[in-house]
Amino acid sequence: MPKQYLLTPGPTPVPERAALKMAEPIIHHRTPEFEAILAKVREQLRWLFQTKEEVIMFASSGTGAMEASVSNLLSSGDKALVIKGGKFGERWSEILKAYKIEAIEIPVEWGKSLDLKKVEEALAAHPEIRAVYVQASETSTGVRYPIRELAALVGPRDNTLLVVDAITALGVFPLPMDEWKIDVLVTGSQKALMLPPGLSFAALSQKAWKFAEKSNLPRYYFNFKKELKSLQKNQNAYTPAISLIIGLHEVLSMMQEEGLEKIFERNARMARATREAMLTLGLSLYAPDSPSDAVTAVLVPSGMDAGKIIKHVWEKQGVKIADGQDQAKGKIFRISHMGYIREPDLLIGIAAIEMALKDLGGTVELGKGVGKALEVLKK
Ligand SMILES: *Cc1c(COP(=O)(O)O)cnc(C)c1O
Repeated sequence: MPKQYLLTPGPTPVPERAALKMAEPIIHHRTPEFEAILAKVREQLRWLFQTKEEVIMFASSGTGAMEASVSNLLSSGDKALVIKGGKFGERWSEILKAYKIEAIEIPVEWGKSLDLKKVEEALAAHPEIRAVYVQASETSTGVRYPIRELAALVGPRDNTLLVVDAITALGVFPLPMDEWKIDVLVTGSQKALMLPPGLSFAALSQKAWKFAEKSNLPRYYFNFKKELKSLQKNQNAYTPAISLIIGLHEVLSMMQEEGLEKIFERNARMARATREAMLTLGLSLYAPDSPSDAVTAVLVPSGMDAGKIIKHVWEKQGVKIADGQDQAKGKIFRISHMGYIREPDLLIGIAAIEMALKDLGGTVELGKGVGKALEVLKK
């Protein structure tokens, strides 16, 4: 088995520091020892989410907290607005459908950014819309949506929430929940948080907690109110993912040591370096207008199969990058730079892509992409 370099937009590499903590013998969760860890993690999560509200956690992949953000906030007969420009926008629609909530959709062409005017028009045309569901970073297309501007549109409406899936955004670029007045901010453990999959999170504004009081949709495990009550006693309602929460304490400590501003700067720099390296190699960007700093989606020239590049870098170099999904399959590859993916890892990824392009008959000048990335990183 080759040495592996995981450059996918989830799961992402786990720092040794956290892996070692998680490998320690399991402890019981109803103990002062675990409760002390949970108390610290609650504070650290507030720091990460930039909120004074409690951050709820579940033992699930990210989709669990997305589902909870439908089933705990809306009521039968409600309508919701969905920004749909990729796989994860589609997921909001599918969850709403499962709960028989009517979704009004704003389709966004894959790779394109959101036209805020369309949101304004939809909100004006349907004053009954109870929630707007969106991604901060649409991982399937590499697009970043204008959350600050959306929050400014939704904020003044007492009867509408802004629910943001920030699973590849929180801890990558700024999303200050309280300052921007985001009502619900959702994330998961296996992307920017550098942990294995298995934890999902959601923080709710006071406005969102009022919705939670009235919501009448069916739910059992994914219950915000129940978890809030438990967390306030440094407990979870059910058996928590103990080892992952212990790992979470470690990765959040690492993030606090670095500082949010520095993390955001580093991610922006790595994203810029990746984009410029790809352009230098004669490839183009799938989301040139509003790229996410978490993941870069790269369009390969027509006639070339992105799948071949992905297979080649994996088989020859042990570098794992991601495929496009659905309509983007074969057309793009996605290289991630969030979490514990750091500058040297990125250079390995770019070098592997150069070698693949060369082996597959391209006319690349080896080292050109890596050189460009280094230039951007050192600027
Ligand atoms: C990864 C991801 C999710 C959650 O997927 P899970 O497989 O349930 O963890 C949701 N939204 C976005 C934008 C993601 O990148």
